[in-house]
Amino acid sequence: MPPNTALFVIGLGLGIGLLVIGLVIGFWFGRRAAPTVVDRKQFLAFLRNLSMWTTEFAGDVSEYQLKLGNLNSLVQAKNSVSPEEIGELLRKIMDANNQLQSRLESAEALLETQTSQISQYLTEALTDGLTGLFNRRAFDRNTDELFSHWQSKSKLFSLGLLDIDHFKNINDVHGHPAGDAVLKRVAEVLQSEFRDASCVARYGGEEFAVLSYCPVDEMAAALEQLRVAMTKMEVDYEGQTIVVTVSAGAAVIAPDDKIGKLVRRADEALYAAKMGGRNRVYLHDGTVCQLVTRSEAPIAGNRERTVAEQSSGFEQEELQNAQSRIQQRLNAFVQEESRRILRS
Ligand code: GH3
Ligand code: MG
Ligand code: MG
Repeated sequence: MPPNTALFVIGLGLGIGLLVIGLVIGFWFGRRAAPTVVDRKQFLAFLRNLSMWTTEFAGDVSEYQLKLGNLNSLVQAKNSVSPEEIGELLRKIMDANNQLQSRLESAEALLETQTSQISQYLTEALTDGLTGLFNRRAFDRNTDELFSHWQSKSKLFSLGLLDIDHFKNINDVHGHPAGDAVLKRVAEVLQSEFRDASCVARYGGEEFAVLSYCPVDEMAAALEQLRVAMTKMEVDYEGQTIVVTVSAGAAVIAPDDKIGKLVRRADEALYAAKMGGRNRVYLHDGTVCQLVTRSEAPIAGNRERTVAEQSSGFEQEELQNAQSRIQQRLNAFVQEESRRILRS
């Protein structure tokens, strides 16, 4: 094989090798960053961008191959090639290789930054910042998922709603940061008590929700266990000892149900617990609310209230805006990078 053809083949091999490495790295970052709970649309858009990007790099490698081809034709047009000319040729090939390599390296670094940003965003979009539990948005998605399994496979599931008793009073007496500490503590206990549940979420200000593939009495028993656990512990916050009690309601999905109906029944059970004196658990059996708590249940706080205020508490709008801002930045970045590669 003449030396110039051999150089061309080596160069071509290197180029293809770099492309394959780029694709593998891109694919690996794409896979590695996939969080357990993802915004499907966002993630698909991200993968589309990723594939656009690798296509651009394939174009870059073709351009590189073209350069090598030109060098090859240049050499073939000559009858003989001097050692100096071979040296010069090798230098040009090395230059082209280095350029391609450094592009791949910078693309790799940028890809990693963007991927971790997207990953962080996706996690934040579904998580409550204070407690680390799923937020209302994640809860709604999970409910849809369980509901579709109920419709397609008759997989029974229950919903538990839990609300801290006289929480406003806790804030008033101990201060808002102490209230936050209580929310975190309740979230921790909930999480450990419902380790196998499909979803444990902060549903509103001081209200939590649990979804689990189980019958209603099982859900109610677990809620009762949690309620008892709460009565046995105190929250210490900067020298203050705070006693916390919770009320809870459980309901199970029923034939011909809509999600709204299930939530309403669980809410009725929770309301019954509040009306019944707080620090207790009720379940909705489909017709009436039944008391689950058998023991005497003293309540924390000292202020009687009859209406439980539901707080939305989540800045869903803001999260959606952040989501679209990050996506726009990613698109702009990919386009700019593609243009730069094509220009060079
Ligand atoms: P009930 O026993 O009837 O549930 O009474 P409650 O005082 O717990 O309920 P209410 O709805 O009157 O008060 C809820 C309070 O929770 C009001 C709101 O300021 C507070 N809250 C909501 N979100 C947060 C938060 O993130 N941190 C803190 N510290 N307080 C919060
Ligand atoms: Mg409350
Ligand atoms: Mg409440």
